[in-house]
Amino acid sequence: MKRIYHFPLVLLIIPLILSCSKNEFSNEDQPKADSEILKIIEEINADSIASNIKMLENLGTRYALASNRREVSFTILKKFKSYGYTNARLDSFEVTLAKGCLIYTTWQYNVVAELEGTGYPDSLILIGGHHDCTLRATEPQNPLEFAPGADDNASGVAVTLEIARVLKNSMVNPRKTILFATFAAEEFGLHGSNHMAKAMADTSAKVQFMLNNDMVSYCSIQDSSLWYVNIIDYLNSVELREKAAQLCELYTSLKAVNNNEYQKYSDSYSFYLNNFPSLFFISFHDDPNYHSVNDLAVYQNLKFAREVAKLNCALIIDANK
Ligand SMILES: [Zn+2]
Repeated sequence: MKRIYHFPLVLLIIPLILSCSKNEFSNEDQPKADSEILKIIEEINADSIASNIKMLENLGTRYALASNRREVSFTILKKFKSYGYTNARLDSFEVTLAKGCLIYTTWQYNVVAELEGTGYPDSLILIGGHHDCTLRATEPQNPLEFAPGADDNASGVAVTLEIARVLKNSMVNPRKTILFATFAAEEFGLHGSNHMAKAMADTSAKVQFMLNNDMVSYCSIQDSSLWYVNIIDYLNSVELREKAAQLCELYTSLKAVNNNEYQKYSDSYSFYLNNFPSLFFISFHDDPNYHSVNDLAVYQNLKFAREVAKLNCALIIDANK
């Protein structure tokens, strides 16, 4: 599925020689790190991401048909409130979900919090990830009772929460409104994001871009010089992905790659279908515990997740400049 590419050595050496000779003349053209962005993203804390992944895992299950699904959303809502987001709210919707040959009509609950822009409050920047999780049918447990989903996708929720915490503390007056959202029922077909993206399209919301994080904390390699993040883009977000790759190099220890194989398989796709530019961040390192009872907090690489959070945060601050 996801692969790290191995180039022939000669193809690596030629551009290296060319870029060495070019750099003598073009150092001033190189983008430079912004001191304000550096100061803010430094506040992003791996322990805080870890504790939120553990908080979500400790709920036992976050399966969209489980009876605790409202409690799951309330737990995330309370966390936003504890960071000072008094406007945090549940965004409820009714949806029919199928499990095997059974059909259930259910209420589902997205969670939304807002940091209101002071210059252009109608201009929206959205960041989020799904909070539900699932298990493969071959797993030994019933997801109605147990589904830890630490990487998929407590990690994306924890990154969203951590950026919300840091921006609330350090960026009191963003020019544009920043919306933080966690989505319900992604595993049953992107339902939460579909609900939100359609509602935004119906009200002609001015969404500058949407950043989706799904499976962003698995990487078993300790050497950070070998860490890769896959930034998936869509037809209307190629430039945004190039910008993200540039900021990735400037502000993180991650290397950005672009493999769009999973383009349709997470919440960013709902926003793309409603014509909003969106990106999908996912670790490029295959997670062997995907949709299994072993997708546990203990196997996550929190320093890797911190770098992904720094990248998302840098993009959001940069868009507010
Ligand atoms: Zn996922």
